[in-house]
Amino acid sequence: MKSKNNRHVLITGGAGFIGSHLAEALLARGDVVMIIDDLSTGRLENIQHLRDNPNFSFAIDTITNELVMDRLVSECDLIFHLAAAVGVQLIISDPVRTIETNILGTHAVLKAATRYRKPVFIASTSEVYGKGERVPFHEEDDRVLGPTTKSRWSYSDSKAIDEFLGLAYYHKFGLPVTIVRFFNTVGPRQTGQYGMVVPRFVQQALRGAPLTVYGDGDQSRCFCNVRDVVRALLLLAGTPAAVGEVFNVGSIEEVSILELAQKVRMLEGEQQSEIVFISYDEAYAPGFEDMQRRVPSIDKVTRFTGWRPQISLDETIQEVITYYRAEES
Ligand code: UDP
Repeated sequence: MKSKNNRHVLITGGAGFIGSHLAEALLARGDVVMIIDDLSTGRLENIQHLRDNPNFSFAIDTITNELVMDRLVSECDLIFHLAAAVGVQLIISDPVRTIETNILGTHAVLKAATRYRKPVFIASTSEVYGKGERVPFHEEDDRVLGPTTKSRWSYSDSKAIDEFLGLAYYHKFGLPVTIVRFFNTVGPRQTGQYGMVVPRFVQQALRGAPLTVYGDGDQSRCFCNVRDVVRALLLLAGTPAAVGEVFNVGSIEEVSILELAQKVRMLEGEQQSEIVFISYDEAYAPGFEDMQRRVPSIDKVTRFTGWRPQISLDETIQEVITYYRAEES
């Protein structure tokens, strides 16, 4: 039953890393949350603690199931579309799944949302900028991508098509669509299984295993705590002017991957883990292309909402360590 005051929010990919944190934050402020997740990369454990909440419900299904999506979309006031194939490792190993999940999935969400005119937030990624070298990346910057023979770039293009499609639905049908490009989001519940570096380093350090730095470790990223990212999403959802716009959401605290490995080792107190360097060819695939630096400009999201990240990288690493210590004990 719909109550008057609380918003009913649908999260696709709600059992995933970011989706489960978003669900938690929405429930905490009294919203009613429905999620749909096919558990391909999401996990029931991520939402286990929410299952007894009367304001929470979930459907284990794919977002391309039209009947299920039709019902869920008809019952909600707002959609966060986070279901996607993500993670460099996954993309390299299964580009068909990446392309199909991302493009067909987003198309299905937009079609259903248009039927009921429901606002949609589409999760996109800093990968859309590709290997552009001029940092920080602004939302209107050109995209610089490698050839189609390198499957990494299929992720960038699949999410760019999602963005094009979302903006096209906004312009053609007046569907309220907002695009949010996440930059290296990290925190508890993120798994290292699909390549993400922070959970990988933390788990390696906890096992006393070598920390695997790919390349020379001089490449840098900005890691943003998932709680900061969720706060940005909630602020954007309360900002009518955000409709039809694209926003970077990420940290601006830049760290090289070698420094990251050293930080993880120090914070974990596991000085005996050595740091080993592994070539990209060996880590991913022959001819793999990485980006050297990736830094967002967050001027636009700050201008629209006042949002800035508040949680430091050290604090975030500590949270991830605490999470994995508890998981592994
Ligand atoms: N990386 C690494 N060791 C690992 C996993 C990743 O050195 O075990 C590197 C990876 O090559 C990239 C950076 O860490 O330069 C961030 O990788 P991630 O997959 O987390 O995110 P990306 O920014 O590549 O999307």
